Amino acid sequence: MSKIAIITGASRGIGREIAKQLAKSQIQVIANYNNSEKEAIQLKRELEKQNIIIDIVKADISKREEAQRLVEFVLKKYHKVDILINNAGISEYKIFTDETDEDWDRVINTNLYSAFIMSQEVIPSMVHHKNGCIINISSIWGMVGSSLEVLYSISKAGMNGMTKALAKELGPSNIRVNAIAPGAIDTAMNANLSREELEQLEEDTPLGRIGKPEDIAKCVTWLVEDTFTTGQVISVNGGWIIT
Ligand code: NAP
Repeated sequence: MSKIAIITGASRGIGREIAKQLAKSQIQVIANYNNSEKEAIQLKRELEKQNIIIDIVKADISKREEAQRLVEFVLKKYHKVDILINNAGISEYKIFTDETDEDWDRVINTNLYSAFIMSQEVIPSMVHHKNGCIINISSIWGMVGSSLEVLYSISKAGMNGMTKALAKELGPSNIRVNAIAPGAIDTAMNANLSREELEQLEEDTPLGRIGKPEDIAKCVTWLVEDTFTTGQVISVNGGWIIT
């Protein structure tokens, strides 16, 4: 039987590319989306043209009951979950003292609480099968911090801590937990950057370009196939920031 993978936030950007690459590697993909239904249907149709069938499931993964419903759907249909990619996320640019409690709830719930609840929901099945791979899509800002993105940096730093601690807890059950911490990747999340800012980023990056969703998806594909890497935060950033 194929491996079963849930990818959160797979309607657009990095998650969409991860869904495509895993689906093309004979993995049964369940692509989660929340608002972008049209894009999710397009992804399903695009893959169907290549005779690849995926499931698309709407769920706001910042809410426990919706995360539960998503995992229940997968367990009912496929009876296991081998791979969880916690990718869904939002950014927020604000002066720290302007951040509200509502901002805290929105950013932390979408970026960090979602990874906590989705992992909790899939782990019993992974433990039962003594096999699992969880990949958290974090950010370089979770490692080095970003001005005007304090909440975002907190959420991703939390994800990195969770990755390391959970890897220790789940290793004996043969479940690997890793994070990928991308640098600047060309998606809607960076649509606010001006041409000049993008050129500056390219100039500051040893590999001379900003990243593409494919760059992150390739690392995911490698981590999925790997057998001995766990508890690591791997920054895929073209050398832009080397810690
Ligand atoms: P994006 O193009 O804005 O896509 C974000 C995705 O997350 C969308 O598919 C969106 O789905 C989904 N999403 C957001 N809130 C959700 C929720 N409550 N429930 C379910 N899905 C939700 O962003 P991206 O650049 O691909 O980012 C993907 C991940 O990479 C994020 O975690 C981000 O922090 C991280 N990252 C990105 C960069 C970068 O430079 N782009 C750098 C470092 C890290 P809907 O539209 O369907 O709601």
